Amino acid sequence: MKTMKKYNLKCPYCGSPAICRPASTVYGADTIDRKSYLYVCSRWPACDAYVSAHKKDRKPMGTMADRRLRRKRILAHRALEKLRIERHMDKWAVYVWLQAKLGLDESQAHIGMFSEEMCERVITLCRSPADPDSGMAA
Ligand SMILES: [Zn+2]
Repeated sequence: MKTMKKYNLKCPYCGSPAICRPASTVYGADTIDRKSYLYVCSRWPACDAYVSAHKKDRKPMGTMADRRLRRKRILAHRALEKLRIERHMDKWAVYVWLQAKLGLDESQAHIGMFSEEMCERVITLCRSPADPDSGMAA
């Protein structure tokens, strides 16, 4: 019986197949978790696209991203986390909020799958609700 499903990913930037490699291939000596894996473009490092894999089944955590998009996703995550803390929301609740704001369902509302444009929308949304001039009214 097969225990590990094989995921065939294609690099969205250059069309080359992605290879599942230990994260240390990309992160080098800075790898915090030696058991983690990434799907890396087979043209790496010439093509700088990759995505993390889930540890238990090596399922890709989202779509492959280049440096720019990875940075945007980090910023979107950060903005969402900030909002969550400010509003004392649970992790699931903030995603329900995000789904409603973006008109997405549960399977679509993952920052790991978002484009740069979607990440921008998340960042803008997270900024807008709390008006900095309204003080600590809430
Ligand atoms: Zn590529």
